[in-house]
Amino acid sequence: MKIAFIGLGNMGGGMAANLAKAGHQVRAFDLSEDACTAARGKGCETFTNVRDAVAGAEAVVTMLPNGEIVRAVYESDIIGHAPAGAILLDCSTIDVDTARSVIAAAAAAGYEMVDAPVSGGIAAANGGTLTFMVGGSDTAFARARAVLEPMGKAVIHAGAAGNGQAAKICNNMLLAITMIGTAEAFAMAQKLGLDPQTFYDISSVSSGQNWSMTSYCPVPGVGPASPADNGYQGGFATALMLKDLRLAMAAADSADAAVPLGSRAAALYEDFAGAGNGGLDFSAIIKTY
Ligand code: NAD
Repeated sequence: MKIAFIGLGNMGGGMAANLAKAGHQVRAFDLSEDACTAARGKGCETFTNVRDAVAGAEAVVTMLPNGEIVRAVYESDIIGHAPAGAILLDCSTIDVDTARSVIAAAAAAGYEMVDAPVSGGIAAANGGTLTFMVGGSDTAFARARAVLEPMGKAVIHAGAAGNGQAAKICNNMLLAITMIGTAEAFAMAQKLGLDPQTFYDISSVSSGQNWSMTSYCPVPGVGPASPADNGYQGGFATALMLKDLRLAMAAADSADAAVPLGSRAAALYEDFAGAGNGGLDFSAIIKTY
């Protein structure tokens, strides 16, 4: 299949390479010449602008930094420029309202489009093991699945347009809350005289068990290998967690959903990132205890 891929950054670079590896003809573009050079080295053909990349494409995938850029790229260079009949997929993490309005604009011009944000970081993008949460009609989902499968280990239909983004931010809000809760419990256990490993041995098989504890423990040397064991380098940057929490807070506002713990988690990550920790893995929030 001819697939245009726009946005070849930390995530998109690996994703486009996996599409090429699966035998697709990948027509790639990024504003960064370095990103284009890397994509050429991984089997993609590159172009000097979005319109040329999407010309003749049967599918268009975007992996861009934020909703403002996604809207601008679709409105000015994809809708009305990609062939009629191309399926459009935005894999960026953006706000639910922008996702729904870009998909509606695409539909008004006759295109099927899905929002398909991902769970999994750069390693999963490179390894083709992302999880895609897809919002859109049944027919759009069926077409999108074929494009997404070479890049992921799971492709899940979340419901109507925008529901992929909704699933993503609700999941990450919960992740932030469980990480903070886990950090808080470990710090308090230690102050009460418990050895962290002993607390882990107990809590990991008790009702406090959760993914942040047993797959991504914020305490160095406890649980399976995690960014905590590597000085909180790599993993999922605090700045990206904060981005997702801001999107979650905006969505909660617009849906009139009560999020007392989510808003507290967002405030704690605002403070932590504001103190210069945006580049550290989000589990480093334990340093504040
Ligand atoms: P990135 O900044 O590394 O890559 C974004 C790329 O988009 C850059 O290469 C940039 O040059 C390019 N770009 C910006 N404007 C453009 C335009 N108008 N036309 C073409 N290219 C343009 O970001 P990333 O880490 O790859 O993240 C991409 C998306 O994936 C974001 O929405 C992010 O929230 C989401 N995400 C990231 C991770 C992660 O771990 N990095 C995990 C899950 C989801």
